[in-house]
Amino acid sequence: MIEIVGGGLIGLSCAWELQKRGFEVVVYDRDLSRKSSASWAGAGMLGALAETFPDEVWRQRAVASAAMYGGWLASFNGSVDFYEGSLDMDGHVDPRDLLRELSLLVCVEERCVGSLDELAGEQIVVCTGAWGLSGFPDVEPVKGYLLAWDGVPAGTLQGILRDGHTYILQRGRGRIIAGSTEERIGFDASMDEDVIAGLRKRAEELLPFLKSMQVSERWYGFRPAAAGNVPVLQRINDRVVLAYGHYRNGILLAPWTARWVADEIQRQLGK
Ligand SMILES: Cc1cc2nc3c(=O)[nH]c(=O)nc-3n(C[C@H](O)[C@H](O)[C@H](O)COP(=O)(O)OP(=O)(O)OC[C@H]3O[C@@H](n4cnc5c(N)ncnc54)[C@H](O)[C@@H]3O)c2cc1C
Repeated sequence: MIEIVGGGLIGLSCAWELQKRGFEVVVYDRDLSRKSSASWAGAGMLGALAETFPDEVWRQRAVASAAMYGGWLASFNGSVDFYEGSLDMDGHVDPRDLLRELSLLVCVEERCVGSLDELAGEQIVVCTGAWGLSGFPDVEPVKGYLLAWDGVPAGTLQGILRDGHTYILQRGRGRIIAGSTEERIGFDASMDEDVIAGLRKRAEELLPFLKSMQVSERWYGFRPAAAGNVPVLQRINDRVVLAYGHYRNGILLAPWTARWVADEIQRQLGK
């Protein structure tokens, strides 16, 4: 049995890839709603072109992951809102769709894991996002807000509008999403009206018709930032693999990460 701690997009993607390769897998998450996960909060840009990466190796991994997306989605044939990118435009995907569909395919149990000593799996993958796990490399939460407006006809926006760290995209059902902000203030659970107002103003400058509309949802999440903003992707002993710290690009990097983790486990088990 392979045990995966953390059922955000990274944990679920690893579980699905391992299951496809014939392994028995269980995912543990302390919150089955996953509403506190970065994956639930994320905008879903597949920003291989527009985002900044820690180095050229990670940029190439991001490009590879973006290219894997269409085939990866086809592998589970779920109902996922997805826009494929092109040579000069990043695609995007609805991460809440991904969480829902992947959770239908793999076994997810409600369980808070305090220490790996509690687990008996043949292999363990730690995918705990911004929370990390005691005893393993540190990760810091980077709070980010998003805003949404409903009632805009689908197809009004093509691609992703961007100006610096402000971006706007439209889901297939019409919802407009604007992001984002970055604050290193720990797991702060307040709604900061000034930060939200600033984001709203920047979004309205990018897309002026939003000024006459009501915001229909406001939320935040915690991006997992490890040292140097480089994901922690490593085997630390013959039983444990770490896969967290994907910072601003974990939705983009999910298929590539899942393949890396599954290759690593397959190599270790000699299967
Ligand atoms: C506002 C915002 C916008 C973003 N936009 C984008 C974007 O456009 N494109 C992109 O690629 N990325 C984006 N990201 C980043 C992306 O969301 C993250 O990098 C990615 O979701 C990380 O996934 P994860 O599975 O590692 O972590 P998470 O999704 O946070 O999942 C971790 C899970 O582990 C569980 N957990 C933690 N500790 C334990 C424990 N001890 N026991 C059991 N369960 C535990 C948690 O409950 C949680 O469900 C954005 C993030 C935010 C906040």
